[in-house]
Order: sequence, then C-alpha cells, then structure tokens
Amino acid sequence: MNHAFPCGTLPLDFVGTLRARRNAAPAEKLATPDLLDDWFVESKMLDAPPDADEVDLETAIDLREVIYSLVAARLAAESLPAADVAELNRHAAGLPVKAQLRSDGVVHTGSVSQGLAALARETVEILGGDVGALLRECARPECTQVYLDRSRGHRREWCAMRTCGNRVKAAAYRARQSGATV
Ligand SMILES: [Zn+2]
Repeated sequence: MNHAFPCGTLPLDFVGTLRARRNAAPAEKLATPDLLDDWFVESKMLDAPPDADEVDLETAIDLREVIYSLVAARLAAESLPAADVAELNRHAAGLPVKAQLRSDGVVHTGSVSQGLAALARETVEILGGDVGALLRECARPECTQVYLDRSRGHRREWCAMRTCGNRVKAAAYRARQSGATV
C-alpha cells in the first residue's frame, strides 16, 4: 500500500496525501500519476486504475487543496471561500463512478474525473450536513491530518492511534522518564 486511509471518509484521506502539510517540508504522496491511480484502487473506490495522466494529477491536486481550504475554514468557523465552493460544486456535478453487477459481485470503474466527482460529492455532504460537526484535526501538531470523529463521546484525539497516538504517548513517556532521572 502506498496510501493510508485513517480518516473515516475518503475526501479527508485524500487531503491527507499531502502529509504534514503545514510543516516546512510536507510529504507529497501524489507525486506521480501512477500514485494517483494507486490511491483510487487502494481506497477501493475503483477496481481498475483510471490510468491518470499529468493533467489528471494536476486537477486532482487542485481539488485536494480546494477540499482542504474548505475543511480548514469550517474547522476555524470561518466563512467558506466562495471560489472554492464553486470549484467543489463544479466537480460534484460530474459523472458518477460506474457500478456494474457481475457474477463475482460489484465492479466499480471510472475515470479520474469520475473519482474526483465522488470525492467532491462526499465533501459537499460533510460540509453541508451534520457530519461537519465531527471534523477534528489530529492532536499531534506535526501531523495536521483532519478526520471525522465518530467515536462514542467524540473523544478521539488522533487521526490514527497506530501512528500519531502511539508516537505522542511514547514521547510523553520519554519526557516523564527523563524528568524522573534528573
Ligand atoms: Zn495524526
């Protein structure tokens, strides 16, 4: 797997393909069209790679940054930038991913723009619906990943316990240990 899907919804996982985005040197996980193909297959949105080219990649990254801008505005309780809303809605109006019934189950196929349309529609539901109240940013400051907190009591602190949660706990443990030996 080249990509991670910890956020509880695909548009936020997609935003997370620019890791540590507010750091001096963020990590770009969509560096090539092939990595974008991998994202659509690994996310299980598409069963076959959409065969992305450089233009698709540029379009996908543009939409990713539009989604982040809107989510960040929502998290900060600011009004949503109108140009980004228009761009999101333009993508959301696109053709759906194709679902076909076969003898061995459902097969999902589509182009990059169909995949992006699905991500845009899900973003519309998040930002326009009640689920927007569940948006959180990971408590590990270097991470900056945004996720949906569907935990009971809404007390989830990390995008993923396996990565960020354990790292923060280990750092806190080391700090306590070193404090104890001084
Ligand atoms: Zn995190």
